[in-house]
Amino acid sequence: MRTKIVAGNWKMNKTHSETESLLTELSAKRPDTTAEIIVAPTFVNLAAAREQLSDSIIQVAAQNMHFAENGAYTGEISADMLLDIGVETVILGHSERRAHFGETDDLLAKKVKTALNKNMRIIFCFGEELEDRKSGNHFSVVESQLKNALFDLAATAWKGIVLAYEPVWAIGTGETASPEQAQEMHAFIRKAIADNYDGATANSVSILYGGSVKPNNAEDIFSKPDVDGGLIGGASLNCGDFIAIVKAI
Ligand code: PEP
Repeated sequence: MRTKIVAGNWKMNKTHSETESLLTELSAKRPDTTAEIIVAPTFVNLAAAREQLSDSIIQVAAQNMHFAENGAYTGEISADMLLDIGVETVILGHSERRAHFGETDDLLAKKVKTALNKNMRIIFCFGEELEDRKSGNHFSVVESQLKNALFDLAATAWKGIVLAYEPVWAIGTGETASPEQAQEMHAFIRKAIADNYDGATANSVSILYGGSVKPNNAEDIFSKPDVDGGLIGGASLNCGDFIAIVKAI
């Protein structure tokens, strides 16, 4: 059985006190579920969030990290820094990191290796741009993103990886992939993993969908057989919406 996951990417939102109140509310309203619930506040609030959630099943993830152990990388955060405050999961490859901060597949491959060497779990994001979909290149774009950053890993490394398919045209736009489009791509991704590794590896990887998931569309998207949950941006900033999405799984 693959793990079902609902993860909230808070991006550059919520001050320290706002983080504390949202986590208090989420903890109080969290439904009983076997799905994993993860929140990714901004770096400066990670330690406090971990402390606040120390007895909770709600997990805390970082939104990014550097590939180097340590050193002269002003403004960056290392894997050891995250682990030291109890953060063991990191989102890598988000389209905003790729688009605004020049993160390439090659750079991401390095980050992935560092995180795995440190036994961290990765939520690896990827997805095509609108032009790729319009021109019918979406499958090849997605396949090359996976190939360049992940497909030279050993099969055993995949136990540390969660995939998040996030079509760029659906992120923060209110436009969502239809449940059928999500299922079609998730099945394609699973087959690509099976072709490069084996069926058991492909069937064990949780593949999340991300891109304008809201309470009113979550259930339809999550009902698809190859969709194992969601990476939620905007709707994760509101307790009621995020809880409704968690309930949908
Ligand atoms: C995201 O940023 O990962 C995301 C899916 O955002 P939104 O839900 O706001 O589209």
